[in-house]
Amino acid sequence: MLPTIQSRKRLLDLLAPHIQQAQQHKRDLGLILVDLKRFADINAQHGYQVGDQLLGNVFAQLMEIVKNEQCLLRTGSNEFALILPLLPNSFVCHLAAQKVLDSLNLPVEIKHHQVVLHPVLGVALFDQNRPDPQSLCLDAEAALQQARLQAKEYCLYYPKDSEHQALLGMEEKIDQALADDAFELYFQPKLDLASRQPYGAESLIRWKQKNDQYISPELFIPFAEHTGQIIPISKWIIQNAMRKQCELQKCWPNLNLAINLSGLSFKSSSLADDIAHAIKIWGANPSCITLEITESAFMEDLQVTREICNELREKIGVKISIDDFGTGFSSLEYFKSIPADELKIDQSFVKNILTDPKDRHIVDMVIQLAQGVGLKVVAEGVEDLDTLRMLTEMHCDIAQGYGIARPIDNEHFSAWLDHHRDAQMI
Ligand code: C2E
Ligand code: CA
Ligand code: CA
Repeated sequence: MLPTIQSRKRLLDLLAPHIQQAQQHKRDLGLILVDLKRFADINAQHGYQVGDQLLGNVFAQLMEIVKNEQCLLRTGSNEFALILPLLPNSFVCHLAAQKVLDSLNLPVEIKHHQVVLHPVLGVALFDQNRPDPQSLCLDAEAALQQARLQAKEYCLYYPKDSEHQALLGMEEKIDQALADDAFELYFQPKLDLASRQPYGAESLIRWKQKNDQYISPELFIPFAEHTGQIIPISKWIIQNAMRKQCELQKCWPNLNLAINLSGLSFKSSSLADDIAHAIKIWGANPSCITLEITESAFMEDLQVTREICNELREKIGVKISIDDFGTGFSSLEYFKSIPADELKIDQSFVKNILTDPKDRHIVDMVIQLAQGVGLKVVAEGVEDLDTLRMLTEMHCDIAQGYGIARPIDNEHFSAWLDHHRDAQMI
């Protein structure tokens, strides 16, 4: 069905509450304007009936992306507006634009005609300094105009604050950072709850800018996944973590070191070789290495996941941990033969166990379920000692969080370990 064309006023009215919400929750808000270039040619070539059917399809495809009737409008005969509310970070807007292009760039067959659309997008991010719907619309229109003039598929308008400006030219900056060895690994200690001794640490990547500000991994890791730069970044992380594990072995032979792997690098064909190679070069102990992979990436294609995990665990001897557990969609079925060693309960459950009986119950249940099938359980996001005590009572194996230590650099991590040698924590 072809939706009717809405006025600009309607778009401004729809944007107003989202702007309020973005300000209130300090989240990003994006607006994408989609124009289908040369649509008149399609009408002329195939007739209005095909043209209308195509526009109806486009509307349905865009609805799949926004999943909210209040966030999608047909604003012109062949123009659409997508509102992206409550974005966790501005980069998600960039990914959404890419998703729109990927979806609309596929050739479609209508009434035996192969039709190719030529979408062009103007994308704008809400500017906290100009908090009104009209400014956001004008920015998106300016971006659309720029894309048309420069014959690009899309252009983005970024507000002029430091965080958003940091995204400009990100791809080149990442290449440069890899060339300059500008990334760094920080380590967040993990505590064994039964012995109260250090169990190990999670390595977390850090990227300091020339102005001494850090760009969050939550911002640049998804970006690097998108550009494919995550593969060289992962290689860098693997090499540096293995070198660290080898160094740790001298004084702490059993200390575990965890490495985060994005879904893309986990599934890359070179992962097992990269890991085996780095272990050999540095002389690391594979049984003290844990690879953390998020539950959602783990669940994406269980058959493939199973093969990769088997190779990593059986041939190389590293451990596998399911990160952010509770945020994906695991089925109880797969617990029976889960190809992992450890499960990390997501911080969103852990942080409320003292105050929310439901979260406490969920955490308790997950601990029992996981341990029942032979998995170790790590609780992350432990911010205070009372939570730590409660997790100990629940027989959770390992804890990690600001209440034990924040992620710290190499030097501070060595000092932390020295300080906790023989001394029982808490
Ligand atoms: P994650 O793997 O779930 O890492 C845990 C995040 O929670 C870290 O944020 C850590 O600093 C933070 N955190 C730890 N304890 C607490 C706590 O008690 N309270 C709160 N509120 N937060 C806590 P960070 O370092 O900013 O990393 C964010 C995410 O970026 C990571 O989530 C991971 O998905 C990704 N990331 C970080 N380093 C790497 C890496 O080396 N490789 C890959 N692929 N992803 C990474
Ligand atoms: Ca992790
Ligand atoms: Ca996590």
